[in-house]
Amino acid sequence: MKALVTGGAGFIGSHLCDYLIAHGHQVTVLDDLSTGSEENLRQLADAPDLQLVKGSILDTALVDDLVGSSDTVFHLAAAVGVHTIVDKPLESLRTNLHGTENVVDAAARHGARIMVASTSEVYGKNDADGLTEDADRVLGSPLKSRWSYAAAKGLDELVAYVYGRETGVPTVITRFFNIVGPRQTGRYGMVVPRFVGQALADEPITVYGDGSQRRCFGSVFDVVPAVVKLMDTPAAYNRAVNLGGLEEVSIRGLAERVIELTGSKSTIEYIPYEKAYGEGYEDMRRRMPDTSLARELIDYEPTRRLDDIINSIVESKRA
Ligand code: UDP
Repeated sequence: MKALVTGGAGFIGSHLCDYLIAHGHQVTVLDDLSTGSEENLRQLADAPDLQLVKGSILDTALVDDLVGSSDTVFHLAAAVGVHTIVDKPLESLRTNLHGTENVVDAAARHGARIMVASTSEVYGKNDADGLTEDADRVLGSPLKSRWSYAAAKGLDELVAYVYGRETGVPTVITRFFNIVGPRQTGRYGMVVPRFVGQALADEPITVYGDGSQRRCFGSVFDVVPAVVKLMDTPAAYNRAVNLGGLEEVSIRGLAERVIELTGSKSTIEYIPYEKAYGEGYEDMRRRMPDTSLARELIDYEPTRRLDDIINSIVESKRA
């Protein structure tokens, strides 16, 4: 395949590039290096089948040109991380709305099949036990900038569905649930690399709120092959598919686990949400995926447990 990976220098994108190159595909990365880095593609620097184009998904002519010379598009470029969304709301909205529309529109015009990365954020505050793809969205007020990411990604999904249906271009929407792994930076939010970094430096682990909120972390190594498989699965077109992990844990429990696995001397520091993210912040109490659709479509069986995921980050930070 001749693949275009937007956001290919980012965390999930760069692991996808590794996988595609290892499987003999040609890969062009479009990335503005805002949160991604060339360092993430370092191992591939000598791969003749990889090309990095530094540019924005808001650049319509560039997007058109790159999509036009690809048969498959993996669209992962986005403004990501809770801190990014809260600190740069306008820039984030622009990228996540107009950028995605540009990419989806170009794919439709050129007849390139496309995967659009979405997120468990679209479920908002719905804390059901095992969110299925048709679960209701429970979003907070648009006055709270925290919800802008969820709102934009929900619209991205709609744009992708509508284009897919109207043009017949194969379109896959993946909803990632707290995907974690090496190269993920804690700079913009992302709790697991933050906690691991703090633990390795014996600094206090910053738990926001009382730490009773729960998440289910998934491994990038489970998710990347699944994304590629979904692209080859017509039954997956024009619908959203949850991809995530196995085990639910409270954020306090995560902090304790990280301290134990690293043998750190860190203590846990509880920080009120207002101090962490500013006034009016609302967290999601719980976010647990039901991945039976992915199992049905592509035999998705995540194998990495929470400890494996934490250890993979510890190893990469120590390397
Ligand atoms: N969190 C935390 N300390 C940090 C960073 C995040 O306690 O230093 C919490 C955050 O408030 C949320 C959870 O960890 O409840 C997961 O945060 P992340 O930003 O990784 O992903 P989210 O699930 O919020 O999209």
